[in-house]
Amino acid sequence: MGGSYPIRVQSMTNTDTQNTEGTVAQAIRMIEAGCEYVRIAVPGMKDVENLREIKKRIRAAGFTTPLIADVHLNPKIAEFAATIVEKVRINPGNYLPGSRVEGRGSKDEGRKTKDEGRGTRDEGQGSRVKGQGSKIQEPEPMRSGVRRSQSSSPIIINPVSGIRHPVSDQQYFDELSFRLAPLLKICRDHGTAVRIGVNHGSLSDRIMEQYGDTPKGMVESALEFARICEVHNFRNLVLSLKASNTRAMIQANRLLVKRMKAEGMDYPLHLGVTEAGAGEDGRLKSAVGIGSLLADGIGDTIRVSITEDPEQEIPVAYGILQATGVRITRTEYISCPTCARTLFDMQVSVQKIKELTRHLSGLKIAVMGCIVNGPGEMADAHYGYVGAGKGKVNLYKGQNLVKKNIDESVAVEELIELIKEGGDWKDNEQE
Ligand code: SF4
Repeated sequence: MGGSYPIRVQSMTNTDTQNTEGTVAQAIRMIEAGCEYVRIAVPGMKDVENLREIKKRIRAAGFTTPLIADVHLNPKIAEFAATIVEKVRINPGNYLPGSRVEGRGSKDEGRKTKDEGRGTRDEGQGSRVKGQGSKIQEPEPMRSGVRRSQSSSPIIINPVSGIRHPVSDQQYFDELSFRLAPLLKICRDHGTAVRIGVNHGSLSDRIMEQYGDTPKGMVESALEFARICEVHNFRNLVLSLKASNTRAMIQANRLLVKRMKAEGMDYPLHLGVTEAGAGEDGRLKSAVGIGSLLADGIGDTIRVSITEDPEQEIPVAYGILQATGVRITRTEYISCPTCARTLFDMQVSVQKIKELTRHLSGLKIAVMGCIVNGPGEMADAHYGYVGAGKGKVNLYKGQNLVKKNIDESVAVEELIELIKEGGDWKDNEQE
């Protein structure tokens, strides 16, 4: 991904990762729908242990699709997963000291139990260790917790004594660097990529206190980790800034590109609107958030998050890529809404043309109601089908009018002939 490679479509399984058969079957359905990277959540050690078997079965079924482990709270899980899959996603807000979700989770890292609750700011990072249930391997105790005090000076909290020590920004950076180093070494040794996946809803306390839950805070959260990776000479990175608020997501990514340029960074970006919803709502939000950035030339891989089976996300993703013109995978149609100037049956014509030409990927065909606006609006179409009078149609190749006043009863067939004459026809292999 990245550079001149096509923008990749990815999605994430929603099965229990310990359910090998279910996860493999779902991953294969996603791949067959067109998913190019399959992400799998690994909340606990048992899940990560099962990743190897899942990968083995997917490969045995003949699929080479890269797999991504989605990790939030436990660095040990990320380090283990990095030895198995092609990419590991970590969330800076949850991954390191100062997390806002400390103390959460038992078996599932994202599940809050009644007694474990979310740690308060004053509880320090010790609550994170307490909050881990017995079903998964506990993470090694951290060297210390790191927070920024009200006076905006970072502090380190001793996990045992709870004593707070003010530290400099450099000491804070060093602490994060120390924590990330093992993962980066394992990733380098195994050729595993890392996604620094920032979510608007889970920024770290330090970022929240310094920037609030703003696009700037999201950018800083990602860049902070990217800088540490660079200190370790690790550049096999992808960055993402996601939010359920499309405007925040768009602003954050635009700002990230600006800031990366200023710092001489050029990492591929993963785009997505989180918790976009189901049905039309989810599709619209994803199209607005992801589509706006793609239209700016921003983005290297996309994930449409809708509350449906993951394979349902893939056609939406391809639709967004097609609509923004960044990756053409099917025939494109331009057609007007019709008005009183339309003097032939537009809807029937459009339907018939689509049925006959939908396999001509990359071709752009315009169907317009009249010659008043039609030819001008279809300027970049390869072929045009334009109303010319009552029951009559003109056919265009590019901007050139080549067949005039064709009776609408034979106009679609004439259009197909024109496409054949132009050398742009191919038979539909699916039929
Ligand atoms: Fe009306 Fe012609 Fe515009 Fe279609 S192209 S909406 S028929 S004016």
